[in-house]
Amino acid sequence: MKRSLNTLGSIILFIGVVLFILRFQSGMDLFYTPWLFSITGLGFLAFYAISAKEETSLFCRVGLHKYEKIGWDDEIKSRAVYQCQRCGRKKTVFRSV
Ligand SMILES: [Zn+2]
Repeated sequence: MKRSLNTLGSIILFIGVVLFILRFQSGMDLFYTPWLFSITGLGFLAFYAISAKEETSLFCRVGLHKYEKIGWDDEIKSRAVYQCQRCGRKKTVFRSV
């Protein structure tokens, strides 16, 4: 749902930019339509950014996860399983025995 909102915002913003270019190139009088699309698109993207911020911390969103070892992989014993304390993202790491 939120991801589609992000996509929709990008599309609306893109249409706005295209309308800007069209207006300058062809001299068409589109009144406030390019502005309307651009501002609506930016609004969607801003809303997405704010709502996404609540889900994970800023550190996780830039890739700085706080991993903690939660156990070993069931299939391969030399593989340790780590989970981020903040966002719950998991990763597996090979450990030499
Ligand atoms: Zn994380």
